[in-house]
Amino acid sequence: MNIEDWIQGLPKVELHLHLEGSLRPATLFSLAQRHDVALGAASAEELGDLYRFDSFDDFAWLFLAGLDVLRDAEDFADATAALAAELAAQNVRYAEVTTTPLQHHRRGVALEDYAAGLDEGRRRARDEHVVQIGWICDISRESEDPQSHFTVDFLLGRTAPEGVVGLGLGGIEHGFPPEPFASSFAKAKANGLAALPHAGETAGADSVWGALRALRADRIGHGIRCLDDPALVAYLAERRIPLEVSPTSNVALKLVPDRQSHMLGELVRAGLVVTINTDDPAYFQTTLNDELRAAHDLHGLDRRALLDTQAAALDACYAPAATKTAIRRELKEITP
Ligand SMILES: [Zn+2]
Repeated sequence: MNIEDWIQGLPKVELHLHLEGSLRPATLFSLAQRHDVALGAASAEELGDLYRFDSFDDFAWLFLAGLDVLRDAEDFADATAALAAELAAQNVRYAEVTTTPLQHHRRGVALEDYAAGLDEGRRRARDEHVVQIGWICDISRESEDPQSHFTVDFLLGRTAPEGVVGLGLGGIEHGFPPEPFASSFAKAKANGLAALPHAGETAGADSVWGALRALRADRIGHGIRCLDDPALVAYLAERRIPLEVSPTSNVALKLVPDRQSHMLGELVRAGLVVTINTDDPAYFQTTLNDELRAAHDLHGLDRRALLDTQAAALDACYAPAATKTAIRRELKEITP
């Protein structure tokens, strides 16, 4: 079997992708039409040209345009269902999808509508596309006052969406270290939620150490900069703390000069628990299948190694036990 078909057939789990970064041109265009928002494009195809951005400003523009069209419950449900259709087409069985409640609350979206939309989207993902979704709601470092506990209180309150598995930490890593958010994460953990912060993406090893020590991180979002500190690599490897590596994202945001020089192979060879992810798949124009293919073609991960990344993602996820068992059974039947 050729590698492309083999990757397509692999039952998959993805741990790191953002709902707000998943709007393909067709979805963004139809949501914009629904709300009479002008995006400077006459069709979804024309809008697609704007996705081929080359600067961070263009990426930021697109990201904000995507946020602007997510206004009511139906929008969140449709965005989630569109993402689920895309995941199902790649044989992704389960995904942990990150979304940022404060971002929407600040724009005037009622949290009840937001949660209702996520619930409906998650139900449609399951019933129409046979994709299970677990939500990660993340704190935006630069916009949330750590003393407010806004995100964790939302997750533990009566308007929380169903199926939340963890508390995340995203946003600008530089200048916004993890430590001030320790009490939010302690509260989340005490209530059975996992600690799933981004760290070691744009900032270095200190940020990862902070996530481990202050937040008791269960996984590290990105974590690629751990390679700066051999003691940290040893710590992560010994405790089997998974990294959610997203190579195309790292290149798109210019953290790595080009795809060939990405450190994915190095992370695997260092004995770290590596999972492969898309981060903002629409805006970075990637899919999980594309990521696995590039890992194979450019970073020396053979079929056995690709299978290991999927087994690692399955082990590291917070899917219900029955879902995990079913996917594990399917993975065991795959010949590398
Ligand atoms: Zn991310």
